[in-house]
Amino acid sequence: MRLLKRLGILFLSAMILTSLISCGKDEIVLPPHQHTYYGKHIAGNCQVKGYMEYTCACGDTYHGEEDAEYGEHTFVEDPVPVRVATQDTPGIKRRYCTVDGCSEVEYYNYEWQPNDLPDTEFD
Ligand SMILES: [Zn+2]
Ligand SMILES: [Zn+2]
Repeated sequence: MRLLKRLGILFLSAMILTSLISCGKDEIVLPPHQHTYYGKHIAGNCQVKGYMEYTCACGDTYHGEEDAEYGEHTFVEDPVPVRVATQDTPGIKRRYCTVDGCSEVEYYNYEWQPNDLPDTEFD
């Protein structure tokens, strides 16, 4: 059994060798490939600058010029307001950047509820 297995492996490696040799023999010399690069912008974020990536159809790729500026923060709003708005005072909401954790606050106005409205009687 073990011998058979070994023979099999030998056979396989012989096959690979022959295919390698035949490949080398019949090698067609192609004219030198002229890369044609297509540029694609890779977006950055507030920590990493975006850049241009150039790729050729053959798979060759390189990083091009970087953006001058960092990208945008990726803000998520904290569902719990810092200060809840009341009818008299605007509320404060905070939002956090998921990338670097920086935060900013913004005011928001109280949203009138239907039952806040004074009873009005129309005659
Ligand atoms: Zn190419
Ligand atoms: Zn950020």
